[in-house]
Amino acid sequence: LNSVRLKEGGELSVGKIICLARNYAEHAKEMKGALPEAPVLFLKPSTALAAPGAIRLPDFSKEVHHEVELVVAIGKTARRIAAQEAPAFILGYGVGLDLTARDLQRRAKERGEPWSVAKGFDGAAPVSEIVSAVEAGDVSDLAITLRVNGDLRQSGRTSQMVFKIPEILAEASRAFTLERGDLLFTGTPSGVGPLRPGDKLLAEVERVARAEWRVEG
Ligand code: MG
Repeated sequence: LNSVRLKEGGELSVGKIICLARNYAEHAKEMKGALPEAPVLFLKPSTALAAPGAIRLPDFSKEVHHEVELVVAIGKTARRIAAQEAPAFILGYGVGLDLTARDLQRRAKERGEPWSVAKGFDGAAPVSEIVSAVEAGDVSDLAITLRVNGDLRQSGRTSQMVFKIPEILAEASRAFTLERGDLLFTGTPSGVGPLRPGDKLLAEVERVARAEWRVEG
């Protein structure tokens, strides 16, 4: 899979997936990490993308965590843009899971190695359909939640982001040319935890996006 569905019809071919680490204070705390002074960016390959439906856990990890996140879809090429210009480059929004092989990530952190496998394995980026920026409206203070088997596991508000979306896009566009179809995962609120076969997940960004997944064994 290398495309996401657009709510208004059609598909968006996905390029790179840019993610933010520790963009909510409570999550930084639960990871025992310091709040970053500048956005900490990492990438997932487009092959990590997965549609709503099934999540398949990789066989090389015993601890895959859910991280529910607001996802921004880029609509046109952006290079070294200013934060004030950023809204013009946003096509729309969705909700996604930054799936993380926490055991591999922990080992990589200890050894000073990259997170690429822990964060970028096949299926590590499940994403809902994308709602247009016009329909979504202001996304700066919306509830974002993840329910697992009906229990509320993660709950936050997008207003709690340390770095706001325009600022993140400006910063990211200094390092990477942003192209139509690139996705930005904007960080997770606290409450991350392991997935088990059979789990049923419901991810929501208030009035913007909602998607369901079932974890396969
Ligand atoms: Mg994350």
